[in-house]
Amino acid sequence: MKGFEHIQAELNEMKKQGTFRTLIPLESDQGSRVTINGNNVIQLSSNNYLGLTSHPRLKNAAIRAVEAYGAGTGSVRTIAGTFNMHKQLEEKLANFKHTEAALVFQSGFTTNQGVLSALLNEQDVVISDELNHASIIDGIRLTKAARKVYKHVDMKSLEDALKQSGTYRKRLIVTDGVFSMDGNIAPLPEIVELAEKYDALVMVDDAHASGVLGANGRGTVNHFGLDGRVHIQVGTLSKAIGVLGGYVASSQTLIDYLIHKGRPFLFSTSHPPAVTAACIEAIDVLIEEPQLIETLWENTAFFKKGLQQLGFKTGSSETPITPVMVGDEALAHHFSDKILEYGVFAQGIAFPTVAKGLARVRTIVTAEHTKGELTEALQVFEKAGKELGII
Ligand SMILES: *Cc1c(COP(=O)(O)O)cnc(C)c1O
Repeated sequence: MKGFEHIQAELNEMKKQGTFRTLIPLESDQGSRVTINGNNVIQLSSNNYLGLTSHPRLKNAAIRAVEAYGAGTGSVRTIAGTFNMHKQLEEKLANFKHTEAALVFQSGFTTNQGVLSALLNEQDVVISDELNHASIIDGIRLTKAARKVYKHVDMKSLEDALKQSGTYRKRLIVTDGVFSMDGNIAPLPEIVELAEKYDALVMVDDAHASGVLGANGRGTVNHFGLDGRVHIQVGTLSKAIGVLGGYVASSQTLIDYLIHKGRPFLFSTSHPPAVTAACIEAIDVLIEEPQLIETLWENTAFFKKGLQQLGFKTGSSETPITPVMVGDEALAHHFSDKILEYGVFAQGIAFPTVAKGLARVRTIVTAEHTKGELTEALQVFEKAGKELGII
């Protein structure tokens, strides 16, 4: 079809640079091993930290919900699409996060868009870490608030931005709790101190921290003992929780406001029963099976140490997200293809997801991986890394 020549030219350029990617379909369920192209390979690319995507309790909860309530809800939440189970999930999330209330959105992405665009207007300023997730950046683009970007986890840069923001009605500091490409943890205690000193609000996106850090996986706020001092906690139900969705946990005032002003909440249909019921079950699993999180961290330590002993650079990672730094974009993709050939699936990540020259193969171990699988994966990284001259 004619009319797309200008974007086809861009795609052709990507093909020349070796950065054009095709989607890789899985032929199995998500797990520590997956089937790709008929081959059974070790999965190190998912956000399925605790293996909940196919946990029997979640699957059963989903099946029971379909039997009782059907496949869909037929409406947005504010018209006829709020079921009892939506309220139950929100109460459970608020309890879990130790906040007054919580509100579920269709995804973590839309949660950030909905919260930021509703909360701020031209009288306000938002102060954002330069490596925040794309959904925060897009949420900020949707507000009329003034914007300031501080250097990644640089508290001097944050304080400078706060000092220059005294004239606004509200100052909102927003940060990822765990940075999704590097796996480092935001210095939340220092951020909260500065926020209190300069009378700013703090919003943390714990997409990669919920189910991973803090007691039973309550996230970075709980991990640092900051319960009650962070105004807004965003989370996703799509990563460690294993299903789909996003939520904000905060004061009753903010939740009431978002029910009236959160645009994705208002204008997009509510979660189907299977999704909602599986999310409820997942929170119960976090509380009742804390050994999953212990195993996740044991596996993380084992795999990270193994990579470092082989001579790979893993950047500033402190969490199960471990980037294997490569540098060159095409080489990162080549490395990823090579390890897949040898039986390990870990995606190459390049510009624009990370800065130019910082391309990497990003790995995430889960609680489901056995030590045997991780040892095998390390052997594959060693073989491919040596062949490509990365180590
Ligand atoms: C993955 C991610 C999101 C998006 O969550 P979804 O539920 O997948 O839409 C938002 N913020 C951060 C920091 C993330 O890593």
